[in-house]
Amino acid sequence: MTQQYGIIGWPLGHTMSPTLHNWGFGKLGINGVYDAFPLEPTDVSAFMERVRTEPISGMSVTIPHKRAVMDSLDHITDRAKAVGAVNTLYWDGDTLCGENTDVVGLIAPLKKLDTLPNSAMVLGAGGAARAAITGFKELGIDDISVSNRTAEKTQTLANEFSVKAVAWEDRMDAAPELICNTTPLGMAGDMETMTPWDKDRFPAECIAYDIIYNPLQTRFLREAEEAGCVVLSGLEMFLHQGLAQFKLWTGQDMNEDGARQLLLNALKS
Ligand code: NAP
Repeated sequence: MTQQYGIIGWPLGHTMSPTLHNWGFGKLGINGVYDAFPLEPTDVSAFMERVRTEPISGMSVTIPHKRAVMDSLDHITDRAKAVGAVNTLYWDGDTLCGENTDVVGLIAPLKKLDTLPNSAMVLGAGGAARAAITGFKELGIDDISVSNRTAEKTQTLANEFSVKAVAWEDRMDAAPELICNTTPLGMAGDMETMTPWDKDRFPAECIAYDIIYNPLQTRFLREAEEAGCVVLSGLEMFLHQGLAQFKLWTGQDMNEDGARQLLLNALKS
């Protein structure tokens, strides 16, 4: 029987997840199909019942359902608990589980660096910022700060994760070794020309990491590169969170290089 997988979110605009997972099923000869399921917030509970009663083998979960699904699960991994959000549903026997693969996805490109940064500033205080802080702590980065447009959310997140809060207007006065943009500033569309950092304020030799992957090179990354920084694109996060989901669902590894090329081609088309 064909195994059903998919992604829930609202609004569920264009997503590259079906492209990635269906390619993986095809390459590995797995009888699976991955579809997009746009799902309004009021329909989450009913959908979670469907997950239990229909032959659904796994699900990706995106904005705004990452917290809402947690009430309907039998088990939540420690990492997902630490983030406070679930982006992956999977079965362990009859147990419906929730994991957060955004964390492993986000730290994957950092693990490939020769030297890890000692300090990091996270820009934004939403779901991705929570994954970033959790991941940076896993990597052993001691000096973590967060800065967000809405001051109240900065302080709430800083308190919850025991990291430093930096006022949004003061963010560029700091000199972190890693700056991680988790805001949508620079994303394709209305915000594409925007950036969360002034081009003449990058600390020397810092790492600029933008978790946006469309466009591949945001204004933030372009200006950071011009300033001599090491730059990391959000495509690596997207790729690795997807590879980790695929492994949880099938027990198999997708070919990383092939999957990266697939996504690059999809973004260029
Ligand atoms: P979210 O929960 O909605 O949080 C967005 C954050 O960005 C909030 O803290 C918000 O600040 C801030 N923000 C929004 N508009 C802003 C603006 N004009 N100026 C300054 N700050 C602004 O979203 P999320 O789930 O964290 O996702 C954030 C981004 O990460 C999205 O662009 C998403 O595409 C990307 N993402 C990428 C991957 C990947 O695999 N590469 C995975 C997940 C997410 P306020 O609190 O002030 O509203």
